[in-house]
Amino acid sequence: MYRIGIDVGGTGIQVGILDDSLKILAEDSIPTSTSIPFSEQIERIVACAVSVAASIGVTRDRIEHVGVGIPGIANLSTGEVIKCTNMGWHHVPFREEFQKHLNVPVLIDNDANVAALAESVAGVSAGTSSSVFITIGTGIGSGIIINGKIWNGFHGIGGELGHVIFDLEGIPCTCGNRGCLERYCSATALIRMAREAVALNPDTMMMQMVSNDITKIEARTVIDAARVSDPVASEVYGRYICQLGQAFANIVNLIDPEVIVIGGGVSKAGDFLINPLRREYSKYVLYNDQPMPEIKLAVLGSEAGIIGAAMLS
Ligand SMILES: [Zn+2]
Repeated sequence: MYRIGIDVGGTGIQVGILDDSLKILAEDSIPTSTSIPFSEQIERIVACAVSVAASIGVTRDRIEHVGVGIPGIANLSTGEVIKCTNMGWHHVPFREEFQKHLNVPVLIDNDANVAALAESVAGVSAGTSSSVFITIGTGIGSGIIINGKIWNGFHGIGGELGHVIFDLEGIPCTCGNRGCLERYCSATALIRMAREAVALNPDTMMMQMVSNDITKIEARTVIDAARVSDPVASEVYGRYICQLGQAFANIVNLIDPEVIVIGGGVSKAGDFLINPLRREYSKYVLYNDQPMPEIKLAVLGSEAGIIGAAMLS
């Protein structure tokens, strides 16, 4: 039998078909389109899933189930998507609509949760029973695995590290609150910090890297300039690592998982991210004279979403 994993994202929807050993046999994607009605969005997703299956000769009756990761929250028992702002979905009957076209079991969960599950079974945290996965990109996503299972919280609304409040009087967040951790630890935060520093001190390599166009500064610009010890970039990056270290210490103080896994765009900095972070985060851990979680880089990349969704059960 086969499973289909679907990763719903703000710009594209990735669809893969996997065998029982969770190997992706074929995949395809469609662009995300929020201007069409919900029923049509689902129709397109199903059509993509059916064509991916057909591309390797798999018929509908050999599809065991479909797993879906969404950037939002869902009711796991009814298959209703409760809130998925990027897609414009609020209380939509995802499973019911999907099954009108493809009548197989449909399981839905949050995208960071399914990526966390994928890494904990087939990725860098394989073999561990507890892990926290953090994706550092435009925002901060997080998934918690306890005893090998996704921990969504009792009401299905937990695991939102990005919106843990860091500074009560802080920067306004897209969620409506102020000072959320996401505003200090995401790639967006690193870019904001760099632009602010460059405005005050334009004599930095970062300005040369973007031909003096401050709006072209990306997370990568800061990281690359800090790597070669540009003073302004190093100061910004150091402050960023300190903030990230505090976020990681909060995870340890609250959950103390076996491993903390980092994915997302910023994780591409590799050792240049992980080494200073390992040194920094322990400062803020309460019992830091005890063994502490390992910090590792995710290994499944953008396929974690498909693999984790297919693993849902
Ligand atoms: Zn927020």
